[in-house]
Amino acid sequence: MRILLDIDDTLADFFGAMEERLGPAVDDSIENLGLMFPGNELVHYLESDDFHREMLPLDGAVQGVNWLFDAGHHLQYLTARAPELQQLTQEWLDEWGFPKAVLHSVGRDAKKKLLRTERYELMIDDQKRYLRVAHKHGKRTIAMDRPWNANWGGTKLKNWMYIESALQGQL
Ligand SMILES: [Mg+2]
Repeated sequence: MRILLDIDDTLADFFGAMEERLGPAVDDSIENLGLMFPGNELVHYLESDDFHREMLPLDGAVQGVNWLFDAGHHLQYLTARAPELQQLTQEWLDEWGFPKAVLHSVGRDAKKKLLRTERYELMIDDQKRYLRVAHKHGKRTIAMDRPWNANWGGTKLKNWMYIESALQGQL
């Protein structure tokens, strides 16, 4: 199966890194960083090399993605991170031992466009704004279970250790 994998809050603990620096989110139920962490210069983090370099993988993500790779699936990474973060993100994936696959670090609009034009069967992401696009184009989706997608009705992945069952539609 051809699978597109998001990075932030799907493979990398972006939200955890934000809370570590800014304290607990005011509201984690809305898919909007400005409302989660009001009054902060978020762009400072979003453009920071160190912030992204120091991010940790989500629990079980390295093992889970390697399991997908070893099972013969064709993977691609697709993130709304800015193109300027492509190389750093590639290094981060390599350093943590994620399997080799094409990485698209393309920004929000291009990510949505690729979701409409790329050939794939399944997308794994945490944000409804992308899950919706994939779903609308008849693709299978698995949502990484996060507070801001609590009302997403499709298949969810609580933790990467359950990826095999999620893929088999048992969750
Ligand atoms: Mg994400």
